[in-house]
Amino acid sequence: MSLKIKKGDKVIVNSGKSKGKKGKVLTVFSAKQRAVVEGVNLVKKHKRRKSESEQGGFEEIPLPLHLSTMQLFCPNCNKGVKTKIEIAKDKTKTRVCKKCQKAI
Ligand SMILES: [Zn+2]
Repeated sequence: MSLKIKKGDKVIVNSGKSKGKKGKVLTVFSAKQRAVVEGVNLVKKHKRRKSESEQGGFEEIPLPLHLSTMQLFCPNCNKGVKTKIEIAKDKTKTRVCKKCQKAI
């Protein structure tokens, strides 16, 4: 199975309460079809104090989103796009934007 979205990709969320948000993919859980996107779908969590001198409080942690809610972001089209895989003669695979035909 070839995943369309990989770690380090820039994606845009197309549904749910994070709709319209862009970010970098930090982790992909391929079995669950989910990915964690930087700065998207944040929840506040209690920060555990590691030492007495450290201040407690909240930190914001991104929760995984289903891959079906996000699309690869094409900088050329400036929006989320569908992609296809092009295989070159030397068998290297490139993801190509279906709209502008440029490699992402
Ligand atoms: Zn494009």
